[in-house]
Amino acid sequence: MAAALEIADLSVVYGGANLALEGVTLDVPEGGFVALLGANGAGKSTTLKAISGLLRFENGQIRKGHIRYMGEDITRMPSHQLARRGILHVREGRFVFPSMSVEENLEAALFARGKRGPALAGDRYEEVFHYFPALRERRRSQAGYLSGGEQQMLAIGRALFAQPELLMVDEASLGLAPKIAAEIFAILKQINGERRLSILVVEQNVSLALKSAEYGYVLEAGQITEQGDSDTLMDRENLSRRYLGGA
Ligand code: ATP
Repeated sequence: MAAALEIADLSVVYGGANLALEGVTLDVPEGGFVALLGANGAGKSTTLKAISGLLRFENGQIRKGHIRYMGEDITRMPSHQLARRGILHVREGRFVFPSMSVEENLEAALFARGKRGPALAGDRYEEVFHYFPALRERRRSQAGYLSGGEQQMLAIGRALFAQPELLMVDEASLGLAPKIAAEIFAILKQINGERRLSILVVEQNVSLALKSAEYGYVLEAGQITEQGDSDTLMDRENLSRRYLGGA
């Protein structure tokens, strides 16, 4: 399948000197589901920030390499422009607006797509609530009162509301009970299958991510050290123990 996202030989530095990524090359096929795995500090979040134009807010910069989306060079493209192209990044930490309702949080996604974004429509809610029924029941609740799992669902639902082509999710499972985390990954897989949007997840929990993703890359100290089909990676002896300290 043709690559939707192509990253080639990407190096990123923070503060002009601290090398966080070194020669990272990875592809996300059109309609594919790819996981970027690795321990704390390996550079996973930095990779997503480099794609979605957020490095500049953290004194980071792309030193070398390029990023293409559907054949177009998007290296260093500002995040609002990327969002208009349908490249959406659900950041680590479930950024929801706590004093706004679930519905208002979803509507906020329309700003991301700008004037060229799709018009507000009731079936947009239906789509999000179809995948995340728990949000339907809480649609008028303040987001700050939702559980951690529901807030993560809302963060993903908000991105979905903007009708992404490429959805990137950073550490969806962080701090969630295993059952809830598994539910969220199963929903991501369902969305990927039904909507045929491309998905790139960053995850420390290898087995969880590889159950949903088709392909995985392992980052270690800013470099890709392993890659392969999910089944192959899962079978590799002690993968999770080696990279995740026994997770
Ligand atoms: P985590 O799961 O902890 O987020 P990660 O794999 O996503 O880990 P990154 O957050 O991408 O890792 O960090 C990669 C490296 O870059 C680490 O050494 C980290 O200390 C460094 N780093 C990250 N953000 C900054 C920043 N804003 N300024 C300086 N160094 C940073």
